[in-house]
Amino acid sequence: MSPACGIASSISYFTVYSPSLVLSGEEINRAFGTNILNNKSQRRVANFDEDALTMAWNAASGCLEQTKTVPDHIFLCSNTLPSWPCGAYLLSSLGLSLSTPVTVISGSWNCAFDTLSLAFHTAAAGKNVLLVATEALSKYALSNPEIAFADSSCAILITPDMAGNRHMFKPAGNFYSADTFEPLICNSDGSTKIFDDIRFTTSKVSQGISELLGKIDKPQIFGFSAFDDKISSAVRRLPQLAKSRFIDDPIHTIGFAGCVQPFLVLSMTQMKHGDIIHLCSLGGGARITALSTEFEKFAALPTGQKAALINGFEHFRNIRTFMDKSEPMRSTFTSEIIQSRDQQFLLNLNGIQCKNCNKIYTIPQSICPSCHEQSEFIQKPLERRGTIFTFAHEYYVPTPNPPVTMLVVDLDGGGRLTVQAADCSPDETAIGNKVKFVLRRYHSGNNLPNYFWKAVLL
Ligand SMILES: [Zn+2]
Repeated sequence: MSPACGIASSISYFTVYSPSLVLSGEEINRAFGTNILNNKSQRRVANFDEDALTMAWNAASGCLEQTKTVPDHIFLCSNTLPSWPCGAYLLSSLGLSLSTPVTVISGSWNCAFDTLSLAFHTAAAGKNVLLVATEALSKYALSNPEIAFADSSCAILITPDMAGNRHMFKPAGNFYSADTFEPLICNSDGSTKIFDDIRFTTSKVSQGISELLGKIDKPQIFGFSAFDDKISSAVRRLPQLAKSRFIDDPIHTIGFAGCVQPFLVLSMTQMKHGDIIHLCSLGGGARITALSTEFEKFAALPTGQKAALINGFEHFRNIRTFMDKSEPMRSTFTSEIIQSRDQQFLLNLNGIQCKNCNKIYTIPQSICPSCHEQSEFIQKPLERRGTIFTFAHEYYVPTPNPPVTMLVVDLDGGGRLTVQAADCSPDETAIGNKVKFVLRRYHSGNNLPNYFWKAVLL
């Protein structure tokens, strides 16, 4: 990657999304008979109706909602997106123009760092860039390394360097990159295996990072993401880092996979004026990204994301495999044609408004049910927040956590829509509660995932 010296771009805002379900390190260790995780640690894990794309939407919509910015370019980085035109889907569900360029980058756990470099360069060319990094990894969690990675997403708005931005960063030098580890294991038949057999041994990792640190300025802060506490402690003890502040906290809560991305922003929040920060992650080699600060103020992290502890590993497995079990029953449900037809209305959340009486409807009408005129209708973007008008708990609908709560929601700006509730227990639901819409996965057919809106309590 070429250096970005002298070019300034700013991180204007960021959001982090961690799913609400939590699996304890103790439970994971018990399930696999190992002690790979600290017993007190936790892993955020996606619910059955969440995947990398829905989590990307969560982080991105939060960022755009707060900043009221329309991005010129979106970078979406992930190794775990569903096989689906995710870029177009993200644009549509965010209510952005489908002509907005989206670059999807994957390839290694380090893709977030590569993408960060690209995003800084694009912003330096005068563009508002939204970087969305997302991973939903431990789908089946058949092995402990899989579960050691957790699920999350983050969105970072990077803008050209303009006076008045609160959080200014510019690359302090190169985006350093070095292949310090050999991630491919060659088998005797000449084939290679990735990931399953990777051995990030503690000594190899510390040696590699030590070599990298020999080539660059000593950092005030060294942010490190690894999936194993032992590797973390070995790196922490490197002599080159003796005077640096070492940050690996998010690994214990968010996990590694998601960690690379939120970790980046979490680390940045701890920087002070003039600090040099190096961020390092493992993957297809280690990458170190060096950034220096210009200004002193930083955004506060989003707080108040509620957590729900999963009671047992078997329950977790049930949640994560639920969607796959239900797929064959619904094979005719989804098609590209249906997705395309619904794009403007359901996914983009557009409704119609009667020109005669101004009443708003969420579903197209030919005659206005309110004024009974064969009126003209205009397309109207719907609010994504509302109030529960009524609800019902359905115990017959297949779900790993019965019941499914169906909500009838009166949208803030007008219109009424029936949606499922997400991430809430039955006793939390009440008429008059405020809710907001989130994008969730419904079911798949012919390997095409089907997404729709659900509502979470505010
Ligand atoms: Zn009317």
